[in-house]
Amino acid sequence: MGSWSDFRRDSILVAGQWVSADNGGVLDVIDPATGESIGTVPNAGVAETRRAIESASAAFEKFSRTTAAERAKMLRDLSTAILDNQDALAELLTREQGKPLAEAKGEVGMSAAYILWFAEEARRVYGDTIPSPWGDRRILVTKSPVGVVGAITPWNFPSSMLARKIGPALAAGCTVVAKPASQTPYSALAWGVLAEQVGIPAGVINIITGSAREIGGELTSNPLVRKITFTGSTGVGKLLLKQAAETVKKVSMELGGNAPFLIFDDADLDRAVAGAVAAKFRNAGQTCVCTNRLYVQAGIYDRFLKAFSNATEKLVIGAGLEQGATLGPLIDDAAVAKVEEFMSDALGKGARVVTGGKRHPKGDRFYEATVLADANATMNFARDEIFGPIAPVFKFETEDEAVRLANDTEFGLAAYFYTQDLGRAFRVSERLQYGLVGINEGMITTEVAPFGGFKESGVGKEGSKYGVDDYLDVKYVCVGGLGL
Ligand code: NAP
Repeated sequence: MGSWSDFRRDSILVAGQWVSADNGGVLDVIDPATGESIGTVPNAGVAETRRAIESASAAFEKFSRTTAAERAKMLRDLSTAILDNQDALAELLTREQGKPLAEAKGEVGMSAAYILWFAEEARRVYGDTIPSPWGDRRILVTKSPVGVVGAITPWNFPSSMLARKIGPALAAGCTVVAKPASQTPYSALAWGVLAEQVGIPAGVINIITGSAREIGGELTSNPLVRKITFTGSTGVGKLLLKQAAETVKKVSMELGGNAPFLIFDDADLDRAVAGAVAAKFRNAGQTCVCTNRLYVQAGIYDRFLKAFSNATEKLVIGAGLEQGATLGPLIDDAAVAKVEEFMSDALGKGARVVTGGKRHPKGDRFYEATVLADANATMNFARDEIFGPIAPVFKFETEDEAVRLANDTEFGLAAYFYTQDLGRAFRVSERLQYGLVGINEGMITTEVAPFGGFKESGVGKEGSKYGVDDYLDVKYVCVGGLGL
């Protein structure tokens, strides 16, 4: 039950020691709401990463031989420690990331839920016996931890994205070298504090901040690392895939999205509006599953637009720590500039502002929740992830057209649609080329269900019973010569 500053570390965790960068260099961590520095973290590079990998590799020898029950207990204790410190961890998260405190608490709660889930899954990593085609031999299938895992995470969910990686890695018996986003390193370093508190052995979790190119380069090229798990943009994901190919590492990639949100004429309007607000404006539109494109059928278009813009106007812009704020700042100046580019492109091509549409007097990084009508396929947000609080509303006529438009992207992470017609619910769900589909639901992430994209949105699944598979090697053992 500490305060947020109890979890703030200005050093990195390597081999169980909190240390500085070799050259003493640091990076500033900025509060997005104020633009002011809230501290520094080490600007580490290749050498520190190599030592972290070597420590994880040494720790793996012993950790991989702990029992599933021992690892489950460590993870349960970690989950409890997170919940015991939920308020402090949430405040730390909001200070570096900007999201409203209630959302930060929700994220920290999700981290605890993922860790608990994988504590439970640790005890269910079963093998197989297979009926043998030979009378004198037996066939066994065993599963073993892949080894050292390199984990790279983004700034939009600085706590829970690590939970989805640390949880299954430790459940399987792997050790970890984690590199968080430079904008939000404190929530990651807090994992090190928690791990120490609950007695996770030194070297099992290492956390390095600093140069993405150097740390990422070492993690992807060092042969001691057997798996790379990454959440972030598709561009960086492709680069890491190429780099990891040289030493043929296992990879999990949770990449960008371009989520469509379809509202059919027969939708429950109030429900669709509530779902659209949640799916669009959570974390100020900065989530990979955030609605990027709203497609509304002609018969309900005007009514939806009115109700949606009314609901959007109820969002309260403010710093994440301000009482009652529901829409925080964007992460940095570049994010605001990108939103403004999307706006001027769309307005130049005929979009109409229904509400919002400009920066907010609260500060440089605050942008109003914005609804745009008359969006069309030539506008940049039809193809690219907005990652900000703009909701473009497109009109469609038929179900076929809606499905075609929804699938017309190289991404395939999340899609949502609203209908009361059961046949349509199955037809559309089966035709959507997306890894996650919400039917009459705008917020569907849970630790018990598989999270992961189709197409260029990624490779592999996080959470659920599938989430541990990517951290395991499957071994076939043929037993003969024993007089069977
Ligand atoms: P990003 O620019 O790809 O950065 C993500 C991480 O990669 C950061 O830790 C970053 O470090 C690191 N990185 C950047 N360049 C690298 C390199 N050359 N080698 C190794 N690491 C490198 O993404 P972001 O802007 O932080 O996050 C937003 C993106 O993440 C969006 O596209 C979003 O859709 C996606 N995302 C996907 C999911 C999912 O589950 N599918 C979830 C959340 C977010 P630095 O910060 O030091 O540059």
